[in-house]
Amino acid sequence: MSKSLEKNSLAGKLIHNLINFAVYHEADRIQLQSAQPGQKIAVRYFNAGKQLSEWSMPAIFSEVLWSRLSVAKDIGEGYFLVSGPTSAIHCQVEKLNTDDGENLLIQLREGSTDHSWSSAQFDQEMTDNLLTALDGKGLGLISGETHAWTNQLAYTLLNTLADEQHCLASLEDPIIKKITGVNQYEWQLGKGQSYQRLFELILAQDPDLIYISEFARVSRHSLAIAATGKFVLARTQQHSVSELIKNLINGSDGKAVIERLRFVLQVYLVKQNCPHCLVVCRLSDSDKEKLASISGLSLEAINAIDFAESQGCEHCSFRASSGEMPLYDAWFLSTEQAKKLSTATFNNKTRQFIAEAMQLNALEDAWLKAQLQLISPLEIINRFG
Ligand SMILES: [Zn+2]
Repeated sequence: MSKSLEKNSLAGKLIHNLINFAVYHEADRIQLQSAQPGQKIAVRYFNAGKQLSEWSMPAIFSEVLWSRLSVAKDIGEGYFLVSGPTSAIHCQVEKLNTDDGENLLIQLREGSTDHSWSSAQFDQEMTDNLLTALDGKGLGLISGETHAWTNQLAYTLLNTLADEQHCLASLEDPIIKKITGVNQYEWQLGKGQSYQRLFELILAQDPDLIYISEFARVSRHSLAIAATGKFVLARTQQHSVSELIKNLINGSDGKAVIERLRFVLQVYLVKQNCPHCLVVCRLSDSDKEKLASISGLSLEAINAIDFAESQGCEHCSFRASSGEMPLYDAWFLSTEQAKKLSTATFNNKTRQFIAEAMQLNALEDAWLKAQLQLISPLEIINRFG
């Protein structure tokens, strides 16, 4: 991960998480202050509903964060938008004073825009990439162990496409929500035609895009053929993107399927710290080592971070969590990349290739969230260890 920490996207994600964290604590203003460039940044939340309203961010972030916020300040009079937990948040950068160290205030206001995309926390670029891919031919996979979240993503995509001039069809088990503009078919185990047969019947009607909720019930062979002439969006249950690709490469007709693969979206769920009962998280030496091996960072870097975890209180019914939050991996493949991958054998190099090509990286996001004390670092060990 140390390599991907250098990505440009880091500053964006960091700001996004920082602001979401402020909203989470019901703050309406964030002050960032650093005595000298390149040093620890003191973060203060104003009007936050709890005790942890002042803390510091590790120095490794300061350069990337300041440069990004300085740019934000100069554009449109310091005005920018981020997608919040429930809707877009309007942010106004109020002051940047470089005479006396660096000092910045961000004013937050909840906005009201498209809930579905912002609740998935996809920015405009991610949304555009998805819609561009879906407008062509090939295969897109939505994966994750929790049906509720993969369903939500599939419906968000179909809803957005249904507004445009597309001929859409779906084969679901079961239909959870009616979508105007989509020919939805329902399949039930042990009743009527097989899933495979229904898939073929729907294909014969020649839709531009077909969504299947049961990837495993359609033969890889017919999937590959279908994805040559139209877009097939499929839901699958896998632990991670690497596991998904490994299973495809090793399965029958898997190479033909991968050759048509255009994107993979993976959803992970982690427990969100309850903000009312946060305490310092003291990691054992073995957990620190695990975290270092997962994140690719040094023990020194890990020791420099003030992690937190919830201990349980009446606000969270002693669950030590205020719910689950999604993390996403998103991988978009070019035709050439997919072709190359389809002729490869799966090994650690493939794993590395996938991790580096990710446009959204759940591990990276989990790391940021842990540093902002939104999740416990133990969640990273549980999820990615
Ligand atoms: Zn609590």
